[in-house]
Amino acid sequence: MHDLKTRLDMLRGSEKRKNLNARSIAALTANPGCRRRSVLDAAGIDKQLLGSAIGFVMPADQSQFALSRGTAFEAQVKANGCAQLLTLLREKLELELAEVSYDDLETVGGNASPAARHRHTVQLLTQAGSLVDEGGTLFDHPMLELTIGGHPVHLEPDLIAFRFAGKFYIVEIKSFAVVDGQAPAASVAAAELQAAVYVHAMREMVRSHGFSEQIVASEVVLVCPQDFSNRPVAVKIDVTNHVNAVRRQLKRMQRLDSIVAMMPADATLDRWSDPRQLDPRPAEELKSTLRTIEAHYVPQCLGACEMAKFCRSEERGSTAALGRQVREELCGLESVAEVVGLATGTRIPAEDQAEHARLLQLAYSYRTAFLGGAA
Ligand code: SF4
Repeated sequence: MHDLKTRLDMLRGSEKRKNLNARSIAALTANPGCRRRSVLDAAGIDKQLLGSAIGFVMPADQSQFALSRGTAFEAQVKANGCAQLLTLLREKLELELAEVSYDDLETVGGNASPAARHRHTVQLLTQAGSLVDEGGTLFDHPMLELTIGGHPVHLEPDLIAFRFAGKFYIVEIKSFAVVDGQAPAASVAAAELQAAVYVHAMREMVRSHGFSEQIVASEVVLVCPQDFSNRPVAVKIDVTNHVNAVRRQLKRMQRLDSIVAMMPADATLDRWSDPRQLDPRPAEELKSTLRTIEAHYVPQCLGACEMAKFCRSEERGSTAALGRQVREELCGLESVAEVVGLATGTRIPAEDQAEHARLLQLAYSYRTAFLGGAA
């Protein structure tokens, strides 16, 4: 009997492990009921490559333009020891920061390995956590760590951990614009979730070193460009609910034993049949292994998971693929064929479907009249 880590490693096979990051961990909460995604992510399987191998290619999730814009804005806000950021923290957030020290944790004496950076981060942040003075301290690029699927996952944040009045605050710098005080809701939600992943990881770190997790604030500071300029604006957001969602999802990922145990002992999603990676594994074999792990497709998967096209294809013809709200509006019927049959009168309704059929036929008659009128 293998332990969970060994089974997940066998599932990945000869493939290089794809590390999760705050963005992918945050995306896990978009569909918490999906076991397939939990298993694939815990195993470190590259879902983009797997999707391509079975003929369901998803576009890259972030454009190069957005990445470059984000990098440039971050560099601007952090220039000269975070001068712009400090002005924002002082003025907009009404923090009285007389003196601020600044530590860049991007390398440790020229060593940029995640493990070395993580050790250095732990050392500095736990030391700062025990200091009682009220002075501000900025830690740029802290390297955080979570254990997922038995492997350490390093979170390389583009953020700053800011210690003020005995508490750490996560500062996230994002490149989407706030125009007339409004930012795109989806972008804000994604930023909040990512910041929540960092809050959770920092809390795990301080807790494992004997501090109360409350020294990491559940309020995060989000910095974005204002209007159509590069002038930064900052807001404080409480991400308590997101932190709880992230924690619940990561706990679920520690309990994958029973799901993995139901898979055939030799199950693998390795795209290659040989260790030299010369002989591709047949797509049908990969698909049939994937189907042994229960999925829970919802339309939101299209924006959050690289397996979405495959999972959607499995649900073709099912009203579940249209989302819970549409399904409910279609009287909870399970298949699209059943809905169409009842609406068009080509299917005789069962006794308990008479009212559903009446409503669907009414909707269908409106549709026909509308389209006929338009024609
Ligand atoms: S796309 Fe598939 S694997 Fe990904 S979350 Fe949705 S149902 Fe799960």
